[in-house]
Amino acid sequence: MERKDKTRLSGKSQLIENDHAMSTLDFGTMEFMKWLMEVETGSKECLIIVKDFFENKYVILFDKNISSSVIVCYRESMPWCITCDTDDCGHVGFAICLKQHYDRNDQIIC
Ligand SMILES: [Zn+2]
Repeated sequence: MERKDKTRLSGKSQLIENDHAMSTLDFGTMEFMKWLMEVETGSKECLIIVKDFFENKYVILFDKNISSSVIVCYRESMPWCITCDTDDCGHVGFAICLKQHYDRNDQIIC
């Protein structure tokens, strides 16, 4: 996966403050790995639950960390987190992985 080292001072929403677990793309990627494991092992470690996935439109996640639903929409196939109002939070990282996963597998795992 491509990694862009960009530092952005603005654009971060104040809705979710502090160093919560999903503040960077990397955390989303890590959570996605856990999520994949969960599908196989049935463990419940992942902080993210995938509630709905509409290909190339949006994905609805549930973030256990903040105990609320998170909507990430795809704008011209680039994910944007509506909840955090940014494109570089963990939810976006998760959504990128999720999309790649579905693109590869061409099937939905429920
Ligand atoms: Zn987010």
